[in-house]
Amino acid sequence: MALRNQFMRAYPLRSYSSSCRRQRHVPFTIFRDVAGLREVRRPMFQPPNKVGFVPTMGALHEGHLSLVRHALNENNHVFVSIFVNPTQFGVNEDLDSYPKTWASDLEKLKTLQDEHLQSNTGGRDSRIQGIFAPSVKTMYPVLPPSSEIDGDGSFVTITPLSNWLEGASRPVFFRGVATVCMKLFNIVQPDRVYFGQKDVQQSVLIRRMVKDFHIPTQVRVIETSRESDGLAMSSRNVYLGERRRADVAILSKALFAARSTYDSGETSAQAIRQAAWRVFDELRHAGQWQANSCKLEVDYIALSGPDDMATFDDAAHVDPKEGAILSAAMKVFPVDHPANDEERGQISVRLIDNVLLSAK
Ligand code: AMP
Repeated sequence: MALRNQFMRAYPLRSYSSSCRRQRHVPFTIFRDVAGLREVRRPMFQPPNKVGFVPTMGALHEGHLSLVRHALNENNHVFVSIFVNPTQFGVNEDLDSYPKTWASDLEKLKTLQDEHLQSNTGGRDSRIQGIFAPSVKTMYPVLPPSSEIDGDGSFVTITPLSNWLEGASRPVFFRGVATVCMKLFNIVQPDRVYFGQKDVQQSVLIRRMVKDFHIPTQVRVIETSRESDGLAMSSRNVYLGERRRADVAILSKALFAARSTYDSGETSAQAIRQAAWRVFDELRHAGQWQANSCKLEVDYIALSGPDDMATFDDAAHVDPKEGAILSAAMKVFPVDHPANDEERGQISVRLIDNVLLSAK
């Protein structure tokens, strides 16, 4: 089936009757191109319509779904994009192996939509209007997308925010994120956009872009969804495999320990960060961190201002009126003694997480 210049099913903008609400799997449109989405979007500019937009790279999990739920609760029309954006992956990163689970993504969104329509007893018939799943050529219509630091193309760069923390390890990452979000916002023109606290530097970057470029949208940041042991949900967690998965909750445990230290009245940046390091130090061995099945490498544990992510030095104190963000990144190496094909094929996985030290 040709993917471009078509959308698979179009449904008119209208209110759904109660019988329709009981229907299983109320369908939504899959948009592959810009024109089709814009045609459906156009009548939604009429008040009191509000459009919410959730950009994703697919491989959907509960964290993504919580963003969609918030969008459905706060707008009457919702669009979700599923697009693995090549320009935010460095040349040696996992673009080719990034998990793609299209059929189950659609199933999850349909189930969420059904649950929402059945539970929505209010007057608003909010629903997912469509999934935007463009080709790379649609999103990068002129030059092929470049992941090179000095590559050609039309890019949005936001500095110095893009250079530190995650940007220090992934030099093209935030340029790619800002660029694709600018494109997506121009296409969907949403009233509200939804991002996860899990990627805190990304959400700060998007707020900055919206402000600096006068983009008429409101940025909503939704709290991190976690597994029962505290691990932040992430599409990349599937790379871990069973044994490494059991080792990695240490990252959130360290952050939670530091947050408790702050909550008990400590404001010294050094003391708060040390509370996180102490959790790791139990595993320190000859300059590395040896977990049960694999080695871990902590990239950073950083305390930053909530609005600009500028990092505090050890002599600084958190202003309890402002609060702060404690963020961390950790590399998880393949298991030390692989016991099966999955373990023999493992790659290193980089995990990130953060907690808010709330303003009091
Ligand atoms: P991704 O598909 O990884 O690009 O993520 C799409 C959106 O989902 C981003 O705004 C992420 O911050 C958000 N997200 C990813 N994981 C989580 C999570 N565990 N909890 C809340 N939001 C998340």
